[in-house]
Amino acid sequence: MAKTSKPNLDKFAIAAALQEIAALLELKGGKDRFKARAYQNGARVLAGMAEDIGVVIQENRLTSMRGIGDALASQIKQLFLTGESSVLRGLKQEFPPGIIELSGVAGLSVSKIKTIHEALGITSLAELKVAAEAGKIKNLKGFGAKSEQKLLEAIADHGKHPRGDERLHLHRALQTGQQVLDYLETSSGIVELSFAGSLRRWKETVGTIEIVASTKNPTAVVNHFARFPLIIQTEAQTNKSFTGHLADGSRVSLTACELEQFPLVLLAKTGSKAHIEKLRHYAAEKGVDLKSNNASSAAVRTTKKSSKPPRNEEEIYRRLGMQHIPPELRDDEGEIEAALAGKLPEDLITLADIKGMVHCHTTYSDGKHSVEEMVLAAEAMGMKYITITDHSPTAFYAGGVTLDRLERQWGEIDEVQKKVKIKILRGTESDIVADGSLDYPDRILEKFDVIVASIHSRYKMDSEKMTRRIVTAMRQPVFKIWGHALGRLIQRRPPFECDIERILDVIAESKAAIEVNGDPYRLDMEPRWIREARKRKIKFVISVDAHSTGALNNVKYGVGIARRGWVRRGEVLNTLGVGAFQKAVRPAG
Ligand SMILES: [Zn+2]
Ligand SMILES: [Zn+2]
Repeated sequence: MAKTSKPNLDKFAIAAALQEIAALLELKGGKDRFKARAYQNGARVLAGMAEDIGVVIQENRLTSMRGIGDALASQIKQLFLTGESSVLRGLKQEFPPGIIELSGVAGLSVSKIKTIHEALGITSLAELKVAAEAGKIKNLKGFGAKSEQKLLEAIADHGKHPRGDERLHLHRALQTGQQVLDYLETSSGIVELSFAGSLRRWKETVGTIEIVASTKNPTAVVNHFARFPLIIQTEAQTNKSFTGHLADGSRVSLTACELEQFPLVLLAKTGSKAHIEKLRHYAAEKGVDLKSNNASSAAVRTTKKSSKPPRNEEEIYRRLGMQHIPPELRDDEGEIEAALAGKLPEDLITLADIKGMVHCHTTYSDGKHSVEEMVLAAEAMGMKYITITDHSPTAFYAGGVTLDRLERQWGEIDEVQKKVKIKILRGTESDIVADGSLDYPDRILEKFDVIVASIHSRYKMDSEKMTRRIVTAMRQPVFKIWGHALGRLIQRRPPFECDIERILDVIAESKAAIEVNGDPYRLDMEPRWIREARKRKIKFVISVDAHSTGALNNVKYGVGIARRGWVRRGEVLNTLGVGAFQKAVRPAG
């Protein structure tokens, strides 16, 4: 092996370089996205490796590790021996410097960044800002006064929140947060690692991805995180915390603390603010101080010096004389009072309780996968039943299923049923049309195993008309499940106007159920309305509204939002076995 003057890189530095390669490949897009994933994966494997990297390289055993092929192994070797990678060098030549940072600006494509770089030599956000302010961008090919103005706005937004005021959708925050966790897990000193903040509380949108880590050496963990290649901007760094912006537009904040501090820091960082403030009020009475010592924003202590630090959050709540409050409930919506009185439900719905996938689309309407593919995927997830509910004919834009095609689908379901153990239920997502009637004639509706009745058009009726429309629909005996109740699309469309309390009264009377829609863009109904429904003893189904096999994972968001509405296991119909579920939702019944 050739000797070089540079010291050998350690596995973390190599992993960081691999992450950088992945980030650049990701920018290239297309087929390179797959390669990007391989490099990401390689970085993970490498950083989590227990053996000495030098020995593994010496003995030529890199490719015997899972996920590391020849190409990846050769780059790892190069990085270890020379501190450089030919692939990274090539990518860096292909892209102007500063590309990862610049690509975080909304509306700035890779080709535009190239144009700007070639004409003006710009390699950073700061330089871009100066040039735009000086009016130098508008004269470039493909730009104009308008786009220069837009660019300036985007840069201004970028400083505050990478995508303007927009908070990240829960599922995107979760995805990015998981990437960060995967990276952090490779740091040898980490003992415990958890999401905190609104992500841990399953809020619909997330401003900052909060992460808390416990470790014997907080500074080392912070320094490790600071090397995460997707960080494009450091906002604040102390020896126990780091806040920065990632290339995908998210803001991430890491708090590292000593082991015994973890439960209190996690509690404080999870929030919500209102919950913690009220908790402190009760804590003061008990002589327990939950305040953070904000010099490092990490240290939190109890005033009773003699008492041992709590081992976990459960113990903190116990010391405060109340039931443990799950993160999803920490919104100061009466949960502390209920916990003090011992009245907090202890059987909140969990993912493991769900036995059936409700509300699945297939290629018969606007789904991506066939009946069989959806069914097999649900079965692989351990489900006992699945409801196939494609759109009804009125939703023609979504390929609503006409009568003749419905017959074909039922035939297909029968065929697939022969091959699987999971029970396939024949369903529809029937439109609630403008006058409150349901799509399909009654004689057909009665033949379904399950009907999800939803509104897909005419959202802008006035409140009274809309209320009448929904109430009319609910009064029909076949109405058993109210789909994505208020029609909201998070950050895109507000819930429609209606007299929701009156509608809840009607549905309580009719004994139909309300869907808690797990599509991360819908998450409909909102928790506050779920709680109102619970008061009326209304039942729920937690649905996936899946248009692909991957979207069957929406079930976790549905469960998250239902928990925020304090929904208990016994209140969710798709925790039932198939027979009981069928009986509960059968249109003809
Ligand atoms: Zn729908
Ligand atoms: Zn749907």
